[in-house]
Amino acid sequence: MMLKTNLKKENNHFDFRNGILHVEELSVVDLAKATKTPFYVYSTGALEDSYNALSNSLKGLNHSIYYSVKSNSNLAVLRVLTLLGSGMDVVSGGEYLRARKVGVAGEKIVFSGVGKTSEEMELALTQGIRQFNVESVPEILQLNSIAARLGKIAPVSIRVNPDVNARTHEKIMTGKSENKFGIPITQAEEAYKMAGDLRNISIVGIDVHIGSQITDLTPFKKAFQKIRELVGSLRNLDHEIRRVDIGGGLGISYSKNRKNPISPNDFSKMLASIFGGMDLEIQIEPGRYISGNSGLLITSVIYMKEGTDHNFLIIDAGMNDLMRPALYDASHEFIPVLSSSESEFGIEVNVVGPICESSDTFSRKTVLPRLLAGDLLAIYSAGAYGAVMASEYNTRPLIPELLVKGNRSSIIRARPDIFETINRDQIPYWLR
Ligand SMILES: *Cc1c(COP(=O)(O)O)cnc(C)c1O
Repeated sequence: MMLKTNLKKENNHFDFRNGILHVEELSVVDLAKATKTPFYVYSTGALEDSYNALSNSLKGLNHSIYYSVKSNSNLAVLRVLTLLGSGMDVVSGGEYLRARKVGVAGEKIVFSGVGKTSEEMELALTQGIRQFNVESVPEILQLNSIAARLGKIAPVSIRVNPDVNARTHEKIMTGKSENKFGIPITQAEEAYKMAGDLRNISIVGIDVHIGSQITDLTPFKKAFQKIRELVGSLRNLDHEIRRVDIGGGLGISYSKNRKNPISPNDFSKMLASIFGGMDLEIQIEPGRYISGNSGLLITSVIYMKEGTDHNFLIIDAGMNDLMRPALYDASHEFIPVLSSSESEFGIEVNVVGPICESSDTFSRKTVLPRLLAGDLLAIYSAGAYGAVMASEYNTRPLIPELLVKGNRSSIIRARPDIFETINRDQIPYWLR
């Protein structure tokens, strides 16, 4: 079968051995015997390889990496990346505390997001922060007053919206003028002037993030060229721009070949051609690029139902466990955990979850071997924006997460008892 050979070549952390899908050295069948499906499983080797590939390709540049915690914020995943020397990009006080908990110093944390609250600003100013990426004039004023109250100076980069189409799904585009993110590039000089006059703000750089799952270099190039020009003008106005934070957004492959659409070397060359010789430290905030193809969602078939128009393969994972298909029309690849040699990819199915919503559809018209109740399926590329977006809709407790390293596996988030979930609600005394 062609699929298997491809997988072998492209990603040896998720590999078939004797016809059984393995994560590193462990059989998924064995993992599923120990932990009931559905569950997420991540490969330490895959996380390390993707981080190192990016880090190595950027070696020639003065750079630093801040993993985007929101793509996969499990403490064990953060710990793997921390041990490799990664900094963290956080978008909430909760994510900031996660980064601190795995041992990241405040000075290696970048705080992004359009709606930072006073409490979140105070937390980061008190425990330490490399920079706030601020996104509006009211936010800069608020940060200045919180910093003044605490007797601190807040390091700031202003996130600029360059009005560039990232050519990705509409819902993950962030760098067009109609998006809520950043300060319009046309108002940037004014914002820097305003910020520069504030006593408890120290300008350290500039920031841009145009979207996610970007699959060609052109939009990046367009945005970064605009930023380079702006850095020139800002320096002429005596602002100290030492760093350029170029955001995240590097796309990954969600199809069989698992080959990244943008090679990190090409990305790095493009950065060198734009920012080379500018005396700027380049900061990057990759999320999906590191975590996306480092995880699988393992699920079992509940029923195979033959409809009038379609066959439905009903699996035990739902849109509450993996929201991307419902939210972004994302498609993930499904691969049976057992590749029986005779089973040609033969029957067309819509793969659906058990949730009572029609949008609980993972894929349409997918050709899969005939599967029976209890058969295991792996949903690929589920490491980013998977577990972190999960909900308990339909009173389905959050599913477990596992981390594998070599022949070891560990539950890095346990499945809660159903009553833990139910008993979080309380009936008011007057209804008892
Ligand atoms: C989401 C986000 C990222 C990471 O995006 P990826 O596409 O996962 O790389 C980086 N920076 C900011 C500001 C973000 O909001």
